[in-house]
Amino acid sequence: MTVSPLKPAAANPATRPELTDDLKTAVADKTAAALALLQQARGEFPSVAFANSFGAEDMVVTDLIFSSRLDIAMFSLDTGRLPAETYALMADVEARYSTRLSVYCPDASTVEAYVRDQGINGFYRSVEQRKACCAIRKVEPLKRALAGRGAWITGLRAAQSTTRTALGLREQDTTFGLVKFNPLAEWSEAEVWAYLRIHNVPYNALHDQFYPSIGCAPCTRAVAVGEDIRAGRWWWEDPALKECGLHIKTS
Ligand code: SF4
Repeated sequence: MTVSPLKPAAANPATRPELTDDLKTAVADKTAAALALLQQARGEFPSVAFANSFGAEDMVVTDLIFSSRLDIAMFSLDTGRLPAETYALMADVEARYSTRLSVYCPDASTVEAYVRDQGINGFYRSVEQRKACCAIRKVEPLKRALAGRGAWITGLRAAQSTTRTALGLREQDTTFGLVKFNPLAEWSEAEVWAYLRIHNVPYNALHDQFYPSIGCAPCTRAVAVGEDIRAGRWWWEDPALKECGLHIKTS
């Protein structure tokens, strides 16, 4: 099995859409709708929290929450295998918004046992081992972060992958027994980037290197122009099965 990332040469034009009047109007309208949904989520569920993974979409939600001073909790998962560029962005976010991030890490003894049994990169060996690694490094910390909450917020978009086409603005997440709000569900990739450019929001440097979707470093690669946005995640697996257990469609 080949696991070497592609290495495209030029900067990614998708991160710099032409800011036409139509695009700016669409972004303004969707920004207002997203803010309204975030406020509704906070009003209905005071303990609601935004799970921030620092992708382009999540930076839109981050900026909406901080710039509008919404009283919404925010947390992130540090799997221990994130790219250096993601840690750099996390530091940028702390500086830009004068905040300290709330970061959840995997249980050390469980990671140690997995590495001892399966090897340092055991997730390449099979879908089962990849999912086991995601369960340890992502799902268990997420469960801790969501404990006691009635709802959570994500930056998911319906157009991101074949596993997310039916994504709603508000869903019942039976995996975690919570309501899930997806304020960017109906945004296009161009609208996300237009928002980031208009508001000068920091973003992960890997996006300019054709990484539209960024997760752990060993499980993320660049994509070719025209390739599916999520094609760079676990690229050695069947596209219909590529979720990490955080966002399984349940209803
Ligand atoms: S994305 Fe890869 S390294 Fe990260 S938790 Fe999942 S299998 Fe492990």
